[in-house]
Amino acid sequence: NADLAMYRAKAAGRNTHYFFTDDLDKEVQESLIIETELREAIKEQQFVLYYQPQVNLADGELFGFEALIRWNHPTKGMVSPAVFIPVAEQSGLIVALGEWVIDEASHFIARLNKEFNKNYTVAVNLSARQFKDKNIVSIIKDSITKARINSHWLDIEITESMLMGDINEALKQLDEIKSLGVQMSIDDFGTGYSSLSYLKKFPVDTLKVDRAFIRDIPDDKDDMAISDAIIAMAHKLNMQVIAEGVETAEHVEFLVRNNCQIGQGYLFSQPLPEAELFSFIKTEKIYQNLF
Ligand code: C2E
Ligand code: MG
Ligand code: MG
Ligand code: MG
Repeated sequence: NADLAMYRAKAAGRNTHYFFTDDLDKEVQESLIIETELREAIKEQQFVLYYQPQVNLADGELFGFEALIRWNHPTKGMVSPAVFIPVAEQSGLIVALGEWVIDEASHFIARLNKEFNKNYTVAVNLSARQFKDKNIVSIIKDSITKARINSHWLDIEITESMLMGDINEALKQLDEIKSLGVQMSIDDFGTGYSSLSYLKKFPVDTLKVDRAFIRDIPDDKDDMAISDAIIAMAHKLNMQVIAEGVETAEHVEFLVRNNCQIGQGYLFSQPLPEAELFSFIKTEKIYQNLF
């Protein structure tokens, strides 16, 4: 399998020529190339954060933003996190990269809320490896202190799968992060395997309904039933709900009807670099005519 092949390639050493024969090996080779380039990219600071607006569906007001990393590759252009985050995760490079993301997002929050005199929340994605890292609490704390932001303005997104395995260990880690005063969200909710009986024990403020359940609304009745159930459950647990992948007016209509307060998706805006985002906020051009 890929892990084994990767291990062998690593064991063979970085200066050793390694011959790849089939497709699987090509994939391994590709991720080794990405890993090598990632090390360089971290040194060269080739990363940038984009920010996607989250909108209050009842009135069209801006609610907050999600920070999404991009790799501005010298020859390939903007590389999607779907390509390099898994490699960064597997190689351990995610720890350094993730620390940069938290720090950069914190300083962005300071600029954002100063510029607009608001209390916007900005969410950052945590990877499984970062979540398990013993230093994550002090990393988040240091960034908040350095950027001089209200800790409540930072939202930490984790996924259900990070809460599996040793539940008590996960709960301890969550409590420690939460004690910093940050907000916490469960991302891509409904696609993992979280135990519903534990959900109420986790100090989580927000559930983000995965795009997969929103996409085919209103055609897919099952997806509507599932989304409706997730929204109702979240509210009963005193959590707020953000729908991901809001692309159509019909999505908004369904969500409002089912009491989902917040939406995020291409209908409002793609993720934008800071300068473009700031002018988007100033003109509010995309969402104002929807409401
Ligand atoms: P995610 O956290 O679930 O982020 C939402 C993804 O959906 C983003 O893709 C966003 O651009 C995309 N999206 C938003 N609205 C729509 C829509 O209406 N339609 C469609 N089709 N897509 C939409 P992106 O930026 O490519 O990020 C992909 C994933 O990479 C993220 O999923 C997250 O899991 C991961 N990721 C991104 N940035 C970071 C980071 O800084 N750290 C870590 N650990 N992971 C990150
Ligand atoms: Mg996310
Ligand atoms: Mg998500
Ligand atoms: Mg996702």
